Formats: sequence, structure tokens, C-alpha cells
Amino acid sequence: MAIASDAPPIRKRVHVRGIVQGVGFRPFVYNLASVLGLTGYVFNSSAGVTIEIEGGTSAVEQFLQTLRQSPPPLSHIADIAISDIPSQRENTFSIHESLAQENEFVLVSPDVATCNDCWREFGDSNDRRYGYPFTNCTNCGPRYTIIQNIPYDRPMTTMSRFQMCNLCQAEYEDPGNRRFHAQPNACADCGPSLTLIQSGPHNAHETSRIDNSSLAIVGHARDLLRAGNIVAVKGLGGFLLACDAQNDAVVLQLRARKRRSDKPFALMARDIAAVESFCVISAEDRAALLSPRRPIVILPRRSGANLSSAIAPGNDTLGVMLPYTPLHYLLFSNSPEESSQFPALVMTSGNISDDPIVTSNDEARRRLDSVADWFLFHDRDIYMRVDDSVVRTFEGRERVLRRSRGYVPHPIDMGIAFQELLACGGELKNTFCLTKDRYAILSQHIGDLENYETLQFFNETLANLKKLFRVEPRAIAHDLHPNYMSTRFALQSEIERKIGVQHHHAHIASCMAENHLSGKVIGVAFDGTGYGTDGKIWGGEFLVADFFGFERRAHLRYVPLAGGDAAVREPWRMALSYLRDTYGADQLPDQLPFLRDIPERSIKLVDTMIARRFQTVETSSCGRLFDAVASLVGIRQQVTFEGQAAIALEAAVKPGIEHHYRFHIEEGEPAQLDLRPTIEDIVKDLALGKPAGDISARFHNTLAVAIVEICSRLRKSDGMDRVCLSGGTFQNVYLLGRTLEALRRVGFGVSLHTMVPPNDGGISLGQAVIANHLLREGA
Ligand SMILES: [Zn+2]
Ligand SMILES: [Zn+2]
Repeated sequence: MAIASDAPPIRKRVHVRGIVQGVGFRPFVYNLASVLGLTGYVFNSSAGVTIEIEGGTSAVEQFLQTLRQSPPPLSHIADIAISDIPSQRENTFSIHESLAQENEFVLVSPDVATCNDCWREFGDSNDRRYGYPFTNCTNCGPRYTIIQNIPYDRPMTTMSRFQMCNLCQAEYEDPGNRRFHAQPNACADCGPSLTLIQSGPHNAHETSRIDNSSLAIVGHARDLLRAGNIVAVKGLGGFLLACDAQNDAVVLQLRARKRRSDKPFALMARDIAAVESFCVISAEDRAALLSPRRPIVILPRRSGANLSSAIAPGNDTLGVMLPYTPLHYLLFSNSPEESSQFPALVMTSGNISDDPIVTSNDEARRRLDSVADWFLFHDRDIYMRVDDSVVRTFEGRERVLRRSRGYVPHPIDMGIAFQELLACGGELKNTFCLTKDRYAILSQHIGDLENYETLQFFNETLANLKKLFRVEPRAIAHDLHPNYMSTRFALQSEIERKIGVQHHHAHIASCMAENHLSGKVIGVAFDGTGYGTDGKIWGGEFLVADFFGFERRAHLRYVPLAGGDAAVREPWRMALSYLRDTYGADQLPDQLPFLRDIPERSIKLVDTMIARRFQTVETSSCGRLFDAVASLVGIRQQVTFEGQAAIALEAAVKPGIEHHYRFHIEEGEPAQLDLRPTIEDIVKDLALGKPAGDISARFHNTLAVAIVEICSRLRKSDGMDRVCLSGGTFQNVYLLGRTLEALRRVGFGVSLHTMVPPNDGGISLGQAVIANHLLREGA
């Protein structure tokens, strides 16, 4: 039998693209080649990882097979190109210097939560990294937030200022070590360190590493939290404001100082057991909580949970995450052996109101001095601002609601080559999207683009992602709303080719794109606000759409939105609007509970506006419909953030109710979903004294039934049976569940969002896909 080693060696050049840098790829390749007795080399290039291997045919084949089938856990291989090259007969396998290539790019890894090996070392009092808050390795730690440029090497990160000690350097150079070429590698002797500073004047109390260990410093911070202080903690993508989640007074104080009246605060708990004490966790929730991305997971709250009621007023859910760096863990206890000092800490973005999250120590002192009592600083710079991500599980899958830390900048593979372009997204929950090759690269959550600070955040993130991915957009896509900052940004841009994309078309295209659908679908886009092609405010839309265009086939009947932003802040205005639409100008039903809460003068004023169509715009918004119903049943008359009334109305739903209200579909092009009969039925139920929970359930059921009815009509006329559900309204899990079940029962194939938010955080992807198709068509 011929032995492979008798044959002359073969040599191959292997080019691997994907997420292959900063994820332990080179040591993996080195070890694999060594085990198989292969020679050659590996290096990081701007375009990925390049490998040359030489040896016997079967060993080379085995190498390639292992590379394909079991690459390092955090890597993501997009493609592998292999070519035959002449043998060089060197004696060893080695790792070469990184090589920067013009115009090539590599997929930068998102930040990764501390891995199990690092947790073990961190908790082991005999390990040299015991209690060290910045412990990491090639399998975990900061990435996107510290990478200034590619190729990903220490000098290109904010770790460049820390000179590794001998022990760390030895780990870094040892291909057999877990920290081989781990760029953020550090220990207490050479790496980042902590400082605890009281807010206020500069002579305030300060504790730094010079005289204390990290354990002592964080121990002190823990005591401060226990005593009811607010501590601003510098983390991975920015500062988080921490306080004791059981202490009502401090939670309320945080709300007042942060100028955040009702929006829920996120929580952090030390471990799953702690989360279980105040929330109900399914198997998939547990998987989401423990995933290396460590998002905030929206969970059903246990009744009687011993936490401040000010954390998430009017919500039956809580947003909870687990520690994703050792520093976060230390806020609860020094190690798993010690009991946790808190069942949960409030951990909310370090900002005031809706400003971008604060990242640098100086910025924190400037902007958070009036919010935090203390600052827990460290001296590793955060290069890229990134908030915590938010997910919710539904039907066994994680659904992203806010896509940031841990997810970004992982690209979405579109499967086809794209032109390089920029899609600017919307106004609320803004993200933008760059495209390159087959990839859509979504930015992290930028926030509500309403002020200079968020626009700055947009600009700095855009500059960074363009640089990392080497994108030079040749077209720019934008929303149709003339007053959106993102639209103005696009219209003022130097890029000549500008493509306006209707808001709800973008929603549906985004859902199609992440589900790899093409051709025409029925798109149901329900949300709060989107500028329509007729200049009206859309938001309850039934489209027949593909990537090239759409027809608006049905929508919620228009009602007047009285007073612009005020109509959003005061849901009773929409209730009045729906009542006037239903009952006419002369009479209103008696004894509507909500009318008692509003001064008669205000009602008269809005009534006049509606009657004279003065300072009003017509809207088919589903968000505003929810506002109207929440007001009618007496749940909310004022809100402080978009969606608040709808969330409260969903939370009120009484389970187990099958009944729905009447509605009417007015034929036409487009058809109109007329809910005046629904409003009449609600008013009747109110007169009968039916509880809000019953009415809420019936109202939700009505929408689900109406959606199925309209989709069925479209199926009949157009012969389509695929439905995409998108828009912020479908974050409503009750409505989503009912609609989905009812659509499937009559044979529709329904696609939902998973990787991209259904809310306006997802529309940049839709804009990008539509613009790309229009460009390719030469439109
Ligand atoms: Zn690790
Ligand atoms: Zn060290």
C-alpha cells in the first residue's frame, strides 16, 4: 500500500473570509497544522486570513475539512477560496505579521461576553487573574468597541497604550495558549485599572489602584450602591448607571436626575438563579440570557417580585441581562462562593434623557456629574459607543428589538452582490446600513435622531464603519419624511445618487431581506408614524410589495391627528378624533370615563381643531389607534415615550377571551379598514361597565381578524399567500401571536423579523435592499 508521505508534498493557498480575526483563528490554524505535521504559514490580512499549507495529500485534506467543519466557536466563515501553488519545503509552520491591503476588508467581530475559561480564572483565588475586572482571551472580551482600524492587531486598538508584562507577553506569543494573539490581553500588573471618584468638585474623594486592589475598589462601590447611591460604571460600550433595584427612593431619584419619567430601566442580575427569583424564564430565554452576546432579555415579571415598582411602571415585563464582563460581576460579589449583595441592579445607559450613551471619563464628569453620586472609571478607552442590545423570545427564537452590543457589526449576508451604498434609516430608534459585497452592515442603535448629539453619534459611527469595511457609498437611500434629520443628512450629502424609500415599504423589504424572500409578498406594516406618498401620516398599511416597488392596497381609515407631537403625547386627542369620526360633530356618548380626566377647555380646543381641520394631518397610524383605545378605556391619557399607551394596553389584556368587535372594510383602491363599528362596540362595553382587560383583548382580537380578512382578499385577487409582518406594533406579542395563528390557520406562510428589529431600527436594511435593486435595474 502506498503511504501518503512517500508522495511529493502538495501546497495550497487558502483564503478565508468572514469573522476570522480576533476570534482565535490563527492559533487554531497553527495548532491544527502542527498536529497534522503540515508546514507553511498563516497571517491576518485586511481581507481575512490567508493560509499556506504544505504536506501529504491526506493531511492537507484533513486540514481543510476541519477548517470547514469545526472552526473556532466565535468565528463565522463566509467563504474559503483554495488554490494550488508550488511546494516550498520549509521546515515549520509559522504565524506571520499582519498585512494591510488597500480596499480589502475583514468582518470585525462584535464584543463577546466573558467565556467560561475566563470566568473560572477570574473566580479562582489561586489564579493570577483572580478578581481582575478586565480578564479576557481570544474567545472573549472587547472587540468592536476598541478596534480603531484593521487588520485587528493590538496597535490598532485602544489597548495599544498598555505594555504587556512578561507573563502576558509570553501567553500572547505562545501558540498553544488561549491568549495567543489575544489583542486585549491584560492582567492586574499591566492592564487597565479602576478608579472610584465621587462626583462634584475636583477635590472630591478618590480611590485608585495606586493604593488599592480592584477587589477593594469595587467592594467600596458595592457598599455605596448598598447605601443607596447611584454609581456610573464604565463598561464595554459606554457608561451604565447602576443603583439598587430594591430601593424605591434611589430608583425614583435616578428617574428624576436622568429626566426619564416612565421608560423602563434595564436590570442586571448576577446569575440565572437570581433572575428566576423575579421573572419567569423559558428554555429559550435562558439561552438568550447566557449567550455570548448577553443581551437584555424581555421577560415576564413574577407577581410579588420584591423590586421597586418604579423600574418599569405599567409593564408586566422586565428587561434583564447577566454580567458580560468581570467588572459587572464584581458589582454583585467577589466570586460565586460569596452570596450576591443584590438580587438585581438597575443598569441603564449612562446618558441624560435620549442623548447618546457616554463613553469617556471626561465626558462622564461633564455630562453625568448631576446624575451619578460616584464614578467607577477605568482607563481603557472606548473607541465605539455601543448600547446594550434588547431581545425578546417568541416561538422558540430570539427576536432582536435593539441591535447593538454583541450583534454589531456582524453583517447580514444577503446572498447576492450589492453595490456599495448607504441607507440612512429613520428618525426614531435610528440605525443606518452600509452595503459591501454580499453584506449589509447595520450600525448599532443610534437612538432618536432629534438633536446634535445623536447626529454626532451617527456621524462618528458612519465614519468608523466606512473605514473598517472600506465602503465608499455610490448612492444614498433615505426616508421620504422631509423633516427627518436622516433625510436632511442624505439630501445634503455629496453623494449624488439619492434614493427616497417609503417608510413602510422599507419595513416590509427589511423583513423580506432577512428571510431571503424575493418576488411579491403581502406586507402588513403597522407602526406609529411613517410619511406616506400622499403626504399623510401612514401606519396601518397593507402593501403588495417586492424590492422594486409597492402598491398600497389597504390601510386604516384616515382620522385627523390634532396638534402634531401633542397628539402623540396626549392619547386622549386620538380618542376624541376617533369618537368624532364615529359619532359626528354634534354628539358624543355620555359618561366616557376618559373625558372626566381631561379639562373641558382642552377638549373644546381639540374638538375645534378636528372640526375645522386646523393644525391637523390625516393619519392611518396603528400606533395612534392603540393610543385612542388606551385612552377610551381609561388606561392612559398622557405618555412620555412613543408606544407607552400601547404597551399598557397590551399589558392589560385579559387572557382567554376569543370574542372580537365589528369592523368594516370599505372597498376601493386602496381599500380602507374602517373601525368605526369597533369604536361603537367599545363604547357600548364601557357603558356596560366591562373591565379594561376584556375590552383590550377584544380590540386586539379585532385587529388580528381584520388583518386576516384583508390578507385573504388580497390572496383572492392577486394569488399571493406569503405575508410579511413588520413595524413597531408587532412588538406587541399578544397581537403578533393572535395574528400569526389566524393567518396560518387559513394557510398563509408568514415571515417575521428575527435578526433585525421590527421597529424603525430595521428600516435602514429595507432602504438598502430596495435602493440596491433600483440601482441594478438602472432606474
Ligand atoms: Zn475568555
Ligand atoms: Zn500582564
